[in-house]
Amino acid sequence: MAEKKQRVEPSDLRPDSLDFVRAKVAEDLKTGRYGGRVVTRFPPEPNGYPHIGHAKSCCLNFGIALENEGGVCHLRFDDTNPETEDIKYVEAIKQDVRWLGFDWGEHLYHASDYFEQLYDFAVTLIQRGRAYVDSLSEEKIREYRGTVNKPGRASPYRDRSVEENLDLFERMRAGAFTDGEHVLRGKIDMAHPNMLMRDPVLYRIRHASHYRRGEEWCIYPLYDFTHCLSDAIENITHSLCTLEFENNRALYDWVLDSVGIKPPRPEQTEFARLDLDYTVLSKRKLIRLVEDGHVDGWDDPRMPTIAGLRRRGVTPEAIRSFCDMIGIDKVNSRVDMAKFEYAIRNDLNQRAPRVLCVLRPLKVTITNFPDGEVEMLDGSYWPHDVPKQGSRQLPFSREIYIERDDFMEDPPKKYFRLAPGREVRLRHSYIIKCEEAVKDPEDGEVVELLCTYDPETLSGPPVDGRKVKGTIHWVSRSHALPCRVRLYDRLFKTPDPEEAPVGEDFTANLNPDSLVVLQGSLIEPSVAADPPGTRYQFERQGYFISDPLDSEPGALVFNRTVTLRDSWAKIAARSS
Ligand code: ATP
Ligand code: MG
Repeated sequence: MAEKKQRVEPSDLRPDSLDFVRAKVAEDLKTGRYGGRVVTRFPPEPNGYPHIGHAKSCCLNFGIALENEGGVCHLRFDDTNPETEDIKYVEAIKQDVRWLGFDWGEHLYHASDYFEQLYDFAVTLIQRGRAYVDSLSEEKIREYRGTVNKPGRASPYRDRSVEENLDLFERMRAGAFTDGEHVLRGKIDMAHPNMLMRDPVLYRIRHASHYRRGEEWCIYPLYDFTHCLSDAIENITHSLCTLEFENNRALYDWVLDSVGIKPPRPEQTEFARLDLDYTVLSKRKLIRLVEDGHVDGWDDPRMPTIAGLRRRGVTPEAIRSFCDMIGIDKVNSRVDMAKFEYAIRNDLNQRAPRVLCVLRPLKVTITNFPDGEVEMLDGSYWPHDVPKQGSRQLPFSREIYIERDDFMEDPPKKYFRLAPGREVRLRHSYIIKCEEAVKDPEDGEVVELLCTYDPETLSGPPVDGRKVKGTIHWVSRSHALPCRVRLYDRLFKTPDPEEAPVGEDFTANLNPDSLVVLQGSLIEPSVAADPPGTRYQFERQGYFISDPLDSEPGALVFNRTVTLRDSWAKIAARSS
C-alpha cells in the first residue's frame, strides 16, 4: 500500500530546533514573565578588537532580539577599567558589530555612564550592612580568602560600623587614599563553598585617567558589581554570557537582591564560548600577537578578529552562517577550523566570479600561433552549478604564462597536466601540446615551454577522438597584470595552541608558513577596473580578495581568503 508522504514544514521543526537559550526566551514570553519584553545586550569591554567569539555572542544577542517581535539588543561598553580601555577599541567594536549586520539603534550605552548610580547602590549596600571597607592589602585579601578546601578568614576590618564605612567610602571617592589602600567588599560569607561569594571586592581605588570620564573618578567598580546593575538599570531581561561566569551567577543575584531590585529583573544564563582550532580567542593573547609583532596589527588577515577576517575576504554572511551552524550549547568544546572554512567557501562559491591568475608563472610560446595576433575568447565567470550569468573576454596570444606546477619534465602516471609530448586544455581556450622544454644553460631549470595549439579545439574535444584530460589556467603575456599575492594560512600549526611545550607559551605553536608572499604573479586583465575589496575565485587556487588597503591601480595586491579544498585534512590524516 502506498503510504502518503508526510511533508515536514519548517514550522514543525522550529520548537525542537530552538537552542536552550532561545527556548528559555520563548518560555518567558509564553508565561509573560517580563510582560512580553525581550531585551538582550552585547557587553564588550573596549580593551581589544572583537573576534569571531564575539561574533557568536552578537549573533545570539542581536539574533534573539530580531527573532522576537519588539525585541531589543543593547550595545553596552563594559568600561570600568581605565588602565586597559581605549576609544580606539570602542570605534573598532562599533564598526565591526555594524559590519556583521547588527543594529543597536538608539541603544548605545556605557557602564561608565552609570558610575554615579553605581556609587549610590554601593552606599545602599553599606547602609544595609552588606558591604564594608577593607584595608587589607591585595595580597592579604587573597590569603584570607582560603582555598576550595579551606574556608576563608574574616578580615579584621569586617565589622566596621556603617558610619565608619560610609565615611571611608566617601573619602575613597574623594581621593583621600592611594591605590590599594582600601577596597569596598560585599559582606557575604567567608566560608562559602563558592569562592566568589567570600566577600568579593566591589570597588577599588585607581588613580588613572578614564578614556570617557577623565580624572573624575578614582574608584572603579568591578565586573561583578557593575554588570548585573547595568543590566538592571537598562531593564535587560536575558543576560547571556559564557560558561566561565557560571559561578558568578550567585553573586549577580546577591547584588541585585542586596540593593533591593525585585523581580521581574534580569537573569543570567550561560552558554558555551566559541573556541576555534588553530587560533586563539582571547583578547589578552591577541594583544600579545600584535604587540610582539607576530602579526601586522589587529587587522592582519591571519587574525581571528572581525577586522582581520574582513580584510581576508570573509563576508559577514559567512560568519553569521558559521555561528548558525555551530549553534548554542551548554558545554564547551573546540570547533574544527574546517567548519568555518566550509562556511566561507559555501558563501564565496555563490558570490565570487571565477578568474585566471597565474601565481608562479612559467612562460609558454605557442609556436604555430601568429606573432602579434590576439584572439579574444569568451570565458564564463560562473560554473554550471552557480545560477549566475556573465562572462568576459580573455585575450589569447602567442606568448602566455602557465603555472610552474602545471609542467613536469618527468611526470608520474596520473599527472594530467603538461609534460614533454603531452597535451592539456587551456581554460576557455585551445588544447596545446608541449613540444620542447627550454632550459637555462647554467642551472638546468626549465624557463620556457615551446608548444603548439590545435586550432580545431576551441569549442570542443579533438575531432579524432583523442582524450585530453587536464585543464589548466593561463594568462596572455602582454595583457596580464602583474600582482602581489599573499597566501595566508592558519596562524598556528597545532589545533590547540595552548598546548605548548614545557617552558614555552602559545607563541611556540605559531605556524611559520602562515604567510607566503608571491611577488611576480600575473592576473587576467579583466579585473583592472574592479574596486579594491572585490572577491574572486582564482580558478584551481582558491578564493581571493583584492586588498582593501594595500591595492592601488597598477599595484594589485590579493589576499587568499581560503583554499578550494581542505589541504589540512590530508595533513592530519597523514600524521594520524
Ligand atoms: P576575551 O576572553 O577575548 O578577553 P572577554 O569575555 O573578556 O573576551 P568581552 O569584551 O568581555 O570579552 O566580551 C563581550 C561579550 O562577548 C561577553 O558577553 C562575552 O561573554 C562574549 N564573548 C567573548 N568571547 C567569546 C567567545 N569566545 N565565544 C562566545 N562569546 C564570547
Ligand atoms: Mg570580559
